[in-house]
Amino acid sequence: MTQQTAPPGGQQQGATAPFTAPDKIFGYRDPAAELQAEKIFLAVPDPKLARQHLQVLTAAPHVAGSPEDRRTAEYVLQQYLAAGLDASIQPYKVWMALPLDIRVDVVAPPGVVMHGPSPERVSDDLFQKDPRILPAFNEYSPSGDVTADVVYANYGRAEDFKKLKEMGVDVRGKIVIIRYGEVFRGVKVLLASQYGAAAVILYSDPWDDGYYRGDKYPKGPWRPDTGVQRGSVQYLFRYPGDPTTPDIASVPDLPESKRISPEQATDLPKIPVTPLSYADATPIMENLGGPESPRAWQGALPFTYHVGPGPVKVHLALKQNYRFTTIWDVIGMVRGSQLPNEWVVAGNHRDAWVYGAVDPSSGTAAQLEAVHGIGELLKKGWRPRRTMVFASWDAEEEGLIGSTEFAEQHAKDLSRAVAYFNMDVAVSGPDFGASAVPSLKQYLRDVAKSVPSPKGGSVYDQWKTTAGEHEKDGKSQKETLMTPSPSRPAAAGSADVPVGDLGGGSDYTPFLQHLGVPSADIGSKGPYGVYHSAFDNFSWFIKFADPTFVYEQQMARIYGLEAMRMASTDVLPLNYEDYGEEIGEYVKTAEQRAKTTFGEQAPSFADAMKAAERLQKAGADLVKLQGKSIGDPGAMNLVLRNAERALLIDGLPDRPWFKHAIYAPGEHTGYAAVVIPGVNEAIESNNLALTRQQLQLLTGALNRAAGALEMAR
Ligand SMILES: [Zn+2]
Repeated sequence: MTQQTAPPGGQQQGATAPFTAPDKIFGYRDPAAELQAEKIFLAVPDPKLARQHLQVLTAAPHVAGSPEDRRTAEYVLQQYLAAGLDASIQPYKVWMALPLDIRVDVVAPPGVVMHGPSPERVSDDLFQKDPRILPAFNEYSPSGDVTADVVYANYGRAEDFKKLKEMGVDVRGKIVIIRYGEVFRGVKVLLASQYGAAAVILYSDPWDDGYYRGDKYPKGPWRPDTGVQRGSVQYLFRYPGDPTTPDIASVPDLPESKRISPEQATDLPKIPVTPLSYADATPIMENLGGPESPRAWQGALPFTYHVGPGPVKVHLALKQNYRFTTIWDVIGMVRGSQLPNEWVVAGNHRDAWVYGAVDPSSGTAAQLEAVHGIGELLKKGWRPRRTMVFASWDAEEEGLIGSTEFAEQHAKDLSRAVAYFNMDVAVSGPDFGASAVPSLKQYLRDVAKSVPSPKGGSVYDQWKTTAGEHEKDGKSQKETLMTPSPSRPAAAGSADVPVGDLGGGSDYTPFLQHLGVPSADIGSKGPYGVYHSAFDNFSWFIKFADPTFVYEQQMARIYGLEAMRMASTDVLPLNYEDYGEEIGEYVKTAEQRAKTTFGEQAPSFADAMKAAERLQKAGADLVKLQGKSIGDPGAMNLVLRNAERALLIDGLPDRPWFKHAIYAPGEHTGYAAVVIPGVNEAIESNNLALTRQQLQLLTGALNRAAGALEMAR
């Protein structure tokens, strides 16, 4: 092992633990040139420049399709070009809405007054009064005008609506008020409409997101009284992207005849829905009568929660301006010297609900510093063996639109892609976390071992420490309520630092779950109470997320290294032994659930289990070859690339856009991953015939993947 000091620019504040970069790289037969290139790369990302990028990107609210969003696209384009990337702006024409007029008024009982949504205001914030800030709204809510009694439905999960029914509380024709958290907001709206609600109000309860968690902004990082969580209520668990073009790309000249009408789109909610702050929600919640809510439904507002209906009555009037809007992805390529048709894609979205300092500009700033590092290498004559594609996605917030349209447009090119690396909420604090397909989990740990942490040691060392702490106090799970993305605990137990499973909250979805490209997502987390509000701005960021931008630097290094190491590797470092092992765990868990649900009639899981074991065995045999300098890497890489694609099936029941047999966003969880979704959701819906059919499809996919790997022998 050669001792390597931290690259220059790594401001190690109070760091004591030494950092030693590993001198071997799995998949590289002779790592000398790569280690040299990585050393040059790691020295480039600069906290001062990351700060500058963030300041420019967050200067104005820049919702997708706005002139300010266009300006951020041009800024990113400039940076890509300056680094020597072959870069351009790719427009798409997509169906979206912006709010024209949003009103929520309490109309009964007499004497209770609330005219919302109130503007987001705190005692001291430089950015809150910009006239370009849109009223808080939920994207893809229809326009509507409803006056009705209110019912409280807790988190709006399936079990919450069931409980209301048991209590004899009918939500038909009512306005249902639901707190954010636990499941994706689109799931809450779908369930409310299935139970016959007339409209939905979503609000942030201080129990989950506000003063109950800690000091609120500007004193602390937590959500202030008037802070509102905006967000899309698209049913992106059916399909994401432009609602009028499932499966095809919304290129600007797409003939009208190729689009479906918005009325035909199955991913759009049919009842109006709008978000409120807890300041505006208080008079509604406080004036609910009816039975006392179950104790677990009690939030942190200072009175006893009741479920209604009434006597509080609300008038909700939403005018949304639906139209086709142009959005702009920015794509920058570095052509591979030896395998130009094999892409390594590294994406991050650029659009924000308001300023989006954390979500997503912390990711864009880090990406730009990673691109800066690649640019310095290019100047020295370095070239990756495979093609690197950097992407700045637009309209992620509305429904992963920029990434989905790009993936649909380039499905053929992407059938040869080796990996997709995502970054969304890159920095909200100091704790590193990641999610990935199992074949990439060890790769991510290895990358984290090669990057110094601002806290001393490597990012991997710190990751291990904080992951342990979070497991103890159960914090990480709570934290992810507000921030869909990494650091979700892995389903399968692992002795090493846990890497989470990919659900459906960000731009990896079309790559992994539609096209079968191995994917990963990374982020550095901390208390983040301004998600999707006007207070997610530069002031909040420099106070609470990363005052010295050393975590921005860290994320630029990790992200760039992820992409460049994968681009030049001899043998792809995909570990199918880990993949097979995790799937085996999923199958065992599902088998138990099936026994509980179907009893004696439960189908046999033996064939699926055998197929998972076959995949694990084939993966284990191959891992031994991958790590040795024998055999033809080209042939080995082909089978490794084919294995993930072999896990694709024709589509999940009722949602054919989702083709991955192992991972999908849950129909009842939305963001959180459902593993082996076909089987698990068939069990959940108590459908024995469907369970049998999905088990067969799963077994077929696992045997195909194992068969693909066995070709390498
Ligand atoms: Zn985001």
